[in-house]
Amino acid sequence: MPDVYCSVDNCHYWSQGNVCRASQILVATDAWAEQASEAIDATSHMEVPTASADSCMETCCKTFVAEGSAATKDDSIIKN
Ligand code: SF4
Repeated sequence: MPDVYCSVDNCHYWSQGNVCRASQILVATDAWAEQASEAIDATSHMEVPTASADSCMETCCKTFVAEGSAATKDDSIIKN
């Protein structure tokens, strides 16, 4: 897996040095992510439909979950 660097410091998986410590992440289009369940994440990536984006502004990290949120348990992503 490539190193993933991220500047979203209120994410449960974020760590010092702008390092993402999630075991897996799922990047998706904003349009799909907005209507998808919190339980659908990288661990179910084969179920995610492909889609096109015109720019990075139309994509997001579906794995984001706010630090302290109960939603950290909604998928099977592990914080390394
Ligand atoms: S899960 Fe996504 S938003 Fe959270 S630290 Fe990793 S890359 Fe950033």
